[in-house]
Amino acid sequence: MEPILELKHIHYAYHTPEGETTALCDISFSVDSGEFIAIVGPSGCGKSTLLSIICGLLEPERGLIKLNGKYLRQSTTNIGYMLQHDHLFEWRTVYNNVLLGLEIQHMLSAKTRAKAHELLELYGLKQFENAKPSELSGGMRQRAALIRTLVLDPDILLLDEPFSALDYQTRLTVGDDIGQILRQAGKTAILVTHDLSEAVSLADRILVLTPRPATIASAIPVTFHLEHDTPMQRRNAPEFKTYFNQIWKELNPYA
Ligand code: ADP
Repeated sequence: MEPILELKHIHYAYHTPEGETTALCDISFSVDSGEFIAIVGPSGCGKSTLLSIICGLLEPERGLIKLNGKYLRQSTTNIGYMLQHDHLFEWRTVYNNVLLGLEIQHMLSAKTRAKAHELLELYGLKQFENAKPSELSGGMRQRAALIRTLVLDPDILLLDEPFSALDYQTRLTVGDDIGQILRQAGKTAILVTHDLSEAVSLADRILVLTPRPATIASAIPVTFHLEHDTPMQRRNAPEFKTYFNQIWKELNPYA
């Protein structure tokens, strides 16, 4: 089966009046459909730059990117992006926030509106459709932001530290919750995080990056032998600590 995403020998440097900062160096990896990849690495190593390159916001200096076998610029593969802040508009209801992407992309129709209602119901926000974002908890806001992305039916989702603005308790439940939603929906996802336990609880594979310029230090497949492979079950499984320690050592070789 052809991978949904393929990166080969990607290089990227920022050019500023102060000089050149190489952020990515020879990054190659591929992602299969339905796979959940986590990318971890030291702060400032180039993780967000990598996501910006995958969604076409930045052009790599060298290397190629293919989505479903087509070069990025020719691809019709739909990419969704979820950021640290939910960017919900306070002057719009939850339902109208969920419709925002559809409006921007001129995709509003009876069918897509029905889909928005369906997702709000499926993910427990139906009774908040007419509420303002300020009436929702942090976790519910993040769900609303996810629904706004999912209603566009993305083939691949890029998640840039989407839980890091939440407090620790909320972050655990929301991370687990959203991880399960994405898995049940069979979505392909790439999650950038500095939280190793989040990576181990959610991912099928973890890419560990070196300090800047980022190269791939290792790609670690994550397998848990659980009847119900949920993030919460993973956190309680014996393998969890083993994976956590392995990645910790990769990131802190001299600690
Ligand atoms: P991470 O997401 O891993 O924290 P980034 O991808 O945001 O790292 O940034 C990688 C490196 O590139 C950082 O060292 C940062 O200083 C530099 N960088 C990021 N954006 C810019 C920019 N617009 N101009 C110049 N340098 C940048």
